[in-house]
Amino acid sequence: MSISIEKNETTDQIKMQKFMNYIDGKWQEPSTGRYIPVINPANGAVLGMVAQSSSADVDQAVAAARKAQKEWRLVPAPERAELLFTVGRLLKENKERLAQTITSEMGKVIEEARGEVQEAIDMAHYMAGEGRRMFGETMPSELRNKFAMSIRVPIGIVGLITPWNFPIAIASWKSLPALVTGNALVWKPSPDTPIVAEAFVRIYEKAGLPKGLINLVQGSGPEAGAAMVEHPGIDLIGFTGSNAVGKKINERAGALLKRTSLEMGGKNAIIVMDDANLDLAVESIIWSGFGTSGQRCTAASRVIVHEAIKQRLEDKLIAAVRQLKLGDGHDEATDIGPVINKAVLEKINKYVRVGIDEGARLLCGGKTAEKVGNGKGFYYEPTIFTDVMPDMTIAKEEIFGPVLSIIGVKDLESAIEVNNNVSFGLSSSIFTSDVNRVFRAIRDLDTGIVYINAGTTGAEIHLPFGGTKETGNGHRDSGVAALDVYTEWRAVYVDFSNTLQRAQIDTNTK
Ligand code: NAD
Repeated sequence: MSISIEKNETTDQIKMQKFMNYIDGKWQEPSTGRYIPVINPANGAVLGMVAQSSSADVDQAVAAARKAQKEWRLVPAPERAELLFTVGRLLKENKERLAQTITSEMGKVIEEARGEVQEAIDMAHYMAGEGRRMFGETMPSELRNKFAMSIRVPIGIVGLITPWNFPIAIASWKSLPALVTGNALVWKPSPDTPIVAEAFVRIYEKAGLPKGLINLVQGSGPEAGAAMVEHPGIDLIGFTGSNAVGKKINERAGALLKRTSLEMGGKNAIIVMDDANLDLAVESIIWSGFGTSGQRCTAASRVIVHEAIKQRLEDKLIAAVRQLKLGDGHDEATDIGPVINKAVLEKINKYVRVGIDEGARLLCGGKTAEKVGNGKGFYYEPTIFTDVMPDMTIAKEEIFGPVLSIIGVKDLESAIEVNNNVSFGLSSSIFTSDVNRVFRAIRDLDTGIVYINAGTTGAEIHLPFGGTKETGNGHRDSGVAALDVYTEWRAVYVDFSNTLQRAQIDTNTK
């Protein structure tokens, strides 16, 4: 099949490596024949061409998944788990190569990329363990000579739609529990990160995953992603991404009565009380606010600080920002890499302009950093606003870039109120040395994750991950809670009385 290139790419680029679909165990061209370039955000270089799939590719992928799942659901979970151990080993063997690919494709600094691959390795081992542990329950029956129990059964065909900011970690959080519980997958990664997606699927292939269990459909959200949501053969959509897209998926899936697990945005805050270890708080704010250029779903974007120490905190933060080195994430000395693409860079800049217009005071940053590298990358200066009011746009909406808003408060009560007064509820943190304040915060901060004397980022894979309010729809990635996403409970009654027994409840209510 000939390839037609969008955006007038040159002949050299046409010859570049193509990132294709993987359906029913075969690497294949998309039915459209269309490809778009994959760009390195650090320097604008074209890394390859990614397939643009359509509903026809989704149809094929679903058919392959359906066929494969019929057999996979019968494979004992401990045997499915063995395969996950192999996946974990292969991820480990390829850790450095995968990390370098992540950095090239989406820009995060190499140390963070290595950490991300480690998360996927840990998740493979953890979920392999669940293959032996996967619990149901036996419960007493109301009647004699009867057992009552609940068992988990797979949902069937799971469609995964994932973002670019943790291209392998999030894919692992979803694909590993889905597979160990007996489902088959159709996966559409972000078109910004198709290369690491292909590398992950090749690891599943090398580990010996039977064909049809993971099907990779590369391409854009509105085309391939929307086709997955529409497809009657997909039983559950596991989505991580923005609220705008999550809401669309929710609306359509709701109309179709399709199950969804939606993990979306955050507006995470770090509270710094007057009794905090200030240096530790500053280090954590810098790491949580500017790590991955502020593009983690758990990135700190608000700092809620006690008025008594606000000025000191600001001085220390400005001094810390001055030390940060922007650049290509492959360079071990770089602290902050680029943001993902030009559109995102422009969106961040727009939010900063709105912040200034609404009266927030800019302490540092506030513009694109055009002189970094070869001048063709997408860099934004680490930016801090102060005197931000809780009802300003920059204090309420997810910016998803290296922009922090400092909000002054007079006590813990108002800190908690400000923290909770947003539509998101992913993560929050408090720095304090008062044990009463600690427990008050644990009880009252309305987020799925609460950190004490640590920034808002950095999850351990055996704990549940997800948020309250508009951050999600009640599900959790990661930890044992993930099994609930990819399985249904089946109630089972085993009667060995050899008589027709009436439920106890009937006799009691006579
Ligand atoms: P996005 O919503 O733009 O895209 C996410 C995925 O959805 C991509 O694969 C995209 O191609 C696809 N998509 C886009 N339009 C679609 C449509 N109409 N139908 C179906 N699929 C569609 O998000 P992004 O920019 O890739 O990622 C950043 C967002 O992800 C941020 O909002 C961040 O907070 C969120 N995020 C959340 C978590 C979490 O666990 N809560 C983790 C990481 C990222």
